[in-house]
Amino acid sequence: METDGNGWVACGCGHRHWGKHGAAGLFLQVGDQVLVQLRPGWAHQGGSWAIPGGARDSHESVLTAAMREAHEEAAIQAADLTVEGVHRLQHPDWRYDTVIATAAHKPEVTEHAESVELRWVSADDLRHMHLHPGFAQSLPELLLPLVTVVVDAANVVGSTPDGWWNDRVGATRRLADDLEEIAGSVVQLDGQQVLVGGVELVVEGQAVGAPDTALDSLVSIVRSAGVGDDMVVARSRSIGQALVVTSDRGLRARVDRSVSVSQLRTWMG
Ligand SMILES: [Zn+2]
Repeated sequence: METDGNGWVACGCGHRHWGKHGAAGLFLQVGDQVLVQLRPGWAHQGGSWAIPGGARDSHESVLTAAMREAHEEAAIQAADLTVEGVHRLQHPDWRYDTVIATAAHKPEVTEHAESVELRWVSADDLRHMHLHPGFAQSLPELLLPLVTVVVDAANVVGSTPDGWWNDRVGATRRLADDLEEIAGSVVQLDGQQVLVGGVELVVEGQAVGAPDTALDSLVSIVRSAGVGDDMVVARSRSIGQALVVTSDRGLRARVDRSVSVSQLRTWMG
């Protein structure tokens, strides 16, 4: 496939950023250690510490781009890692998606041309290092507790009498778009900040005709062949940090962690 992401973007924030389709990187944690790399002098923000990452190509998902960069820059194998979620730094005309991953043991890493040095450091050590400004900005949010939000689409769509019954596919598609607002972002949960590392939208019935979200989306559509509630329960069990969104009391009783539809609406503004 063609490499089409390399290039600068003049952003509405007043700065320019690398990556015509945005950029993605890998924040790899093993225990309390994080893998960082020193950027070479010739690079943008050379001499600062950041994570392996770079421009995303248009045909890549966020995950694919981050893993490719981590492989190119540090010889990291995706198979050794567990992906926990994604953090999104959103600019007016650009974005940086950080894939947060863990591993049981420190994988073998090898320095390549783009990284003059790779180093495992604690989050505490990072506070005393000269960090790339974008990484420094994201870092406090990368260290927050993570949740994956599992949305009972029928319940959320059905809670607003906007004529959804005439067009279930369209209503589901609009909900998927709205959920993009919170995916990769920080929300308040029980008085604490948590990072929404991803969103799964569980659909059933006619809504299974809703199209897949864009390749770079952090919202995925999960199509249920049978009863949507059963799929929500199954997904919540297979994801370690699931947070279910539904106002269905019966369903809420079947899952460990849940919030109401009105809580979701508060987050989406
Ligand atoms: Zn910008």
